[in-house]
Amino acid sequence: MSGIVGQEAPALVQRCVRCRKDYPADNIRPNCECGGLLDVEQPQPELRNGELRSLFEGRRHVDHGPFASGVWRFGELILAGAVERAVTQPEGNTPLLNRPTVSAFAGIENLLLKHEGHNPTGSFKDRGMTVAVTQARRVGATALACATTGNTGASLAAYGALAGLRALILVPRDGIATGKLAQVLAYGGRVVLVRGDFDACLRLVREAVDELGVYLVNSINPFRLEGQKTIVLELLQQLQWQAPDWIVFPAGNLGNAAAFGKALREARAWGLIDRMPRLAAVQAEGAAPFARSFRDGFRTRHQVVAQTVASAIRIGNPASYDRAVTAIRETDGVVTTATDPEILDAKAVVDAAGVGCEPASAASIAGVRRLAREGIISKGERVVAVLTGHLLKDPTLVTWYHAEAEPRPAYANRPAEIEPTMTDLARIAR
Ligand SMILES: *Cc1c(COP(=O)(O)O)cnc(C)c1O
Ligand SMILES: [Zn+2]
Repeated sequence: MSGIVGQEAPALVQRCVRCRKDYPADNIRPNCECGGLLDVEQPQPELRNGELRSLFEGRRHVDHGPFASGVWRFGELILAGAVERAVTQPEGNTPLLNRPTVSAFAGIENLLLKHEGHNPTGSFKDRGMTVAVTQARRVGATALACATTGNTGASLAAYGALAGLRALILVPRDGIATGKLAQVLAYGGRVVLVRGDFDACLRLVREAVDELGVYLVNSINPFRLEGQKTIVLELLQQLQWQAPDWIVFPAGNLGNAAAFGKALREARAWGLIDRMPRLAAVQAEGAAPFARSFRDGFRTRHQVVAQTVASAIRIGNPASYDRAVTAIRETDGVVTTATDPEILDAKAVVDAAGVGCEPASAASIAGVRRLAREGIISKGERVVAVLTGHLLKDPTLVTWYHAEAEPRPAYANRPAEIEPTMTDLARIAR
């Protein structure tokens, strides 16, 4: 092991984002007694900007142990003192891609795609889960639980298996994509199909913390967010710490909005970057309570009954609302929406570039396109769009779009059907 991780780590505290009350690091309750959410308060790192950067740079090509992870490489800023005992696959180290056809579709010259679908279970959820499950083991938890539209469950089931801990996974019965359900079952999670939507699952599992003594690993859990900060830290490192103008991402429960804001705030405070990128959160039009709050200057916290084809962001009452408001305000950010047809067309373009992503991820690209068209993002600005999950998460929707949807979608790649004759084949092949 190299670096400063082995030294005695300064104690972390968890702090209420609403009333600022502090709780010890090993507190397992997800809320303050005032009802507010908790954030991990990171101590000021002992190393300064240049030293920190070279510490992280030196670990970039490590190929075994926790520093091979794109999360634990940044251990000093995440969960110092836990690195040696991290439950890691490893995760992260996802590519930053430049695809001209996607840039042209979005109407932006300098667009990079941070592809989180390259994580071990195919979504960014692994970055938060490695930290939450590591923390669960530190506090002696025996059973883990989450409410999920699929990806959190897939990730929890995998990391639970790795840690040897039981995983209780609540999913909306009619709302989980095929690939995700297959993963949860395969990794050995205890799947509970709830006759209700995601918001009902989350309400139920929050009660289970007190009633059943389970350790909650939804993104309410502040350690999840510490891991998700590394999406931003890693992309900044890939850009040699030259901050882009914009970071654009899909927004459902607002965990990423919160984590990205916190990552940027800390990176700025610790001298890793010298200017703040602006955050742009993109919601599906049928699941856009946060966009509505943004439009009224965050005067009201809205709730909706969520409806969209993008199941990962089909959330009507986002849990990390308070934290996300701070993130948008501190980065001079924006919140916008994309319709389902816009999301599906953007997805088809990302897929046809040979990259591929799940529907919710494509909201990023549909969002960039809208913001570019509205002149909010200008053509020459440097934009990083986060693709949150892998193409194969939701194969049902892909085949429906290409093979069945009527009227024929703009980018549909219809299969051809023939008799087993050369005449037929020759006609198609031409
Ligand atoms: C969880 C998830 C989201 C939404 O992220 P939040 O942090 O809940 O806003 C978006 N896309 C994919 C693929 C996801 O799995
Ligand atoms: Zn409080």
